Amino acid sequence: MISNEVRRKLQVAVGAEHVLESEVDRFSYSYDSSSMAVVPAFKPDVVVRPATTEEVSKVMAVAFEHVIPVTARGTATGKTGGSVPLKGGIVLSLERLNKIVELDERNMMVTAETGVRTIDLYNHCAAKGLFFPPDPAGWKMSTIGGNVAENAGGMRAVKYGVTGDYVMGLEVVMSDGTILNTGGKAIKNVTGYDLTSLFTGSEGTLGIITKILFRLIPMPKQRGSLQIMFKSLDDGCATIHKMLQENIVPAAAEIMDKASLDAVALKRKITFDEQIGSCVVIEVDGEDVDAVNAQINRIDRVAKSCGALSLRVAKNEAETQDLWSIRRELSQAVAALAPDRVGEDISVPRDAFPEVVRRIRKLSEKYNLPLAVYGHAGDGNLHPIILCDFNDKEQMKRVEQMVDGVFEAALAVGGTLSGEHGIGVSKKPYIVDALGEAGIKAHKAVKQALDPKGILNPDKIW
Ligand SMILES: Cc1cc2nc3c(=O)[nH]c(=O)nc-3n(C[C@H](O)[C@H](O)[C@H](O)COP(=O)(O)OP(=O)(O)OC[C@H]3O[C@@H](n4cnc5c(N)ncnc54)[C@H](O)[C@@H]3O)c2cc1C
Repeated sequence: MISNEVRRKLQVAVGAEHVLESEVDRFSYSYDSSSMAVVPAFKPDVVVRPATTEEVSKVMAVAFEHVIPVTARGTATGKTGGSVPLKGGIVLSLERLNKIVELDERNMMVTAETGVRTIDLYNHCAAKGLFFPPDPAGWKMSTIGGNVAENAGGMRAVKYGVTGDYVMGLEVVMSDGTILNTGGKAIKNVTGYDLTSLFTGSEGTLGIITKILFRLIPMPKQRGSLQIMFKSLDDGCATIHKMLQENIVPAAAEIMDKASLDAVALKRKITFDEQIGSCVVIEVDGEDVDAVNAQINRIDRVAKSCGALSLRVAKNEAETQDLWSIRRELSQAVAALAPDRVGEDISVPRDAFPEVVRRIRKLSEKYNLPLAVYGHAGDGNLHPIILCDFNDKEQMKRVEQMVDGVFEAALAVGGTLSGEHGIGVSKKPYIVDALGEAGIKAHKAVKQALDPKGILNPDKIW
């Protein structure tokens, strides 16, 4: 419960109708898209919905004065509990900061408020022939502020990088309500510390991002998609590896194992050839049809040399959609295999992809837990999904042990805990292993300097 004094101050800051305290409202803002078995819901004391940077600043000033925890929230598509208010207090919902402020075509940059949906920003820029590449799979729902706070990736990361690669500058409200501007439109800028990068991926623990300046690139003129079937996951990985070594850089290169394909087959009521053990879906792009076809021909040759069973090239938009639908339906298809699932997001050096999958498979046998593996093989980011039943307490103990093993496997091959979903709550126990004591000390020093009262998204990351 907040005091009458705090309530009154918040109502003055954002308007009484945007200070929500009903049981239903508090419950609605108590969870995100991570598994509830891993990150249970926590209700905030109050949900506050500002509409401008100035309103965010006023809310933060109140929180700072009264030492109230503040958890920023985009649209809660996060998968590690980042926007779950573990300490109650204020959930600061940024959905009303949703304007695209400026599309600067000459400098190829766009400025937008934090609550703009990722797909809306993409479409706005695409209408002018400009390309905003970061494409997290949840982009129809997620906000650009959430993407920056998580440094979200996506399928096109293999060629175009992740969200952080496009952030040129930020407007950030600090824990005491001060408004800070970082970066700018100058492409080269080494004045002072790189604060833009510091806030990118900071998961709401260092400041509230209110506005973002992104750089854009010209929209590729042609695209092509192909789907390749292999006997094994190793053959699929080998193809992607060889392709990249031969300087064929696809816009996206996704891989799915046999369990994932079985899930799709069940959902679509189809059957895949018994021999098929993995599927790779690739997008290439370029200046014209010839450039795209040349890449497809080279991929065809590489895939055959790695033992491809079949290769299908999309001939039109409908076929492209069909071909990618296997990948897009995967999450839902795998979800239908068991009452519940625990999905992870490890990232490893590209050539360690098959080895880490082998290690995770062994864990699946050891703990007797079904597993599906898919991911962005082009950049070494994979999603092992453990199928389980949250009501089965004994099984969930094995799931916990297996998750420990998955992170150990990632670190053992030179990888890391998260490629794109962040640390939040669910990966906190493993952070010391990943960063080392010195890394944690440096993180804590930054946190102490920027959030001295510890009110911003407390109890997250470490
Ligand atoms: C179906 C599905 C597919 C997904 N696919 C991908 C994928 O391909 N790649 C990927 O990287 N992720 C993916 N995700 C995860 C998720 O979409 C991303 O993490 C996304 O960036 C979160 O955005 P959001 O607006 O929902 O943020 P939220 O979940 O609301 O918040 C995420 C974190 O950011 C902080 N935060 C939010 N807004 C701000 C702000 N303005 N200032 C400071 N901190 C803030 C929150 O406190 C929290 O810590 C997927 C999720 C789903 C459900």
